[in-house]
Amino acid sequence: MIKKIDLVYNLALEGKRIDDSILIELLELDSASKEASYLGEKARELAGKVAGNKGKIWASIGIDYQTCPMNCDFCSFGEEWNLFEGRHEWTDEEVVEQVEKYVSEGASWITLRTTQYYGIDRLNVLAEKVRKEVPGDYGLVANTGEFGKLKAKEMKDAGIDTVYHTLRLGEGKDTKFNIEDRLATLSSVSDADLDLAYLVEPIGPEHSNEEIVKIFKTGLDHGAVLTGAMARVLIKGTPLEDKGELSPERLAQIIAVTRLGAGTNAPDICVHPPGRQAMEWGANVVVVETGAVPRAEKECCGDWDKFDSKKARKWFEEAGYDLESK
Ligand code: SF4
Repeated sequence: MIKKIDLVYNLALEGKRIDDSILIELLELDSASKEASYLGEKARELAGKVAGNKGKIWASIGIDYQTCPMNCDFCSFGEEWNLFEGRHEWTDEEVVEQVEKYVSEGASWITLRTTQYYGIDRLNVLAEKVRKEVPGDYGLVANTGEFGKLKAKEMKDAGIDTVYHTLRLGEGKDTKFNIEDRLATLSSVSDADLDLAYLVEPIGPEHSNEEIVKIFKTGLDHGAVLTGAMARVLIKGTPLEDKGELSPERLAQIIAVTRLGAGTNAPDICVHPPGRQAMEWGANVVVVETGAVPRAEKECCGDWDKFDSKKARKWFEEAGYDLESK
């Protein structure tokens, strides 16, 4: 296995595609084994080479807090779960203020995250305002619902350069979305020359290695430049509550496999929720988030899970990454 990991590492460095069967084999390792530790070590070494050893912060603002009729089985916003009532939206001024804060803390990306129902046109107006009022060298990301080619082009014109979108694990079963619609949005992103950020998500203990690899490869096939893994956060009262959560060791192993599987093609590998071991096993991007968070039972009034830019920078330093200056 050690030789096989070395071989995969070399292929990854050359940007070659790694066979699904090999990635599945790496995911089958016991995450506490010495082979898995070696996998983590090589993934971290690869992060040093393909990501220039740069630790980066992905800052996300959940703009509209409202129940959602799509009722995805893992999401606290699903209206059927009755977890909250009411609706709250951040004003444009509040968003701009939060963006200024994140940019001053050294965030590499600012994500404007909305539900399906906020509307792309409104999001574009907000993006233009953010670009105008907050200068800086940061990526502006949209994380919203489905859209076609025309809207994707308008997003680009509004100053958005990256879209976060995925085909999720259990899409069409744990969600009411049509798989083809999600794939069509992914194609619209690449057609408009927007960068695609795509995590394998939301991963629970019940997902097979085959499913994880299939979803991961879908992202690469759509040109993802940032990938990685997001574990499902257990929300009491949602239908998937009983399925539990991944261990931090397993999440770190999945991160290591995505790092090797992505190679030079997607140099930024993100872990969410942030994990020390996952950063030591190849993740060079972590998320700080605020506002409406589908992983929270209430609207989040500060930093989700008390994870802020200061903590992110400290963890990156401890994992040996270099940080972009603030
Ligand atoms: S994940 Fe998105 S679409 Fe699904 S219920 Fe939550 S807000 Fe709605």
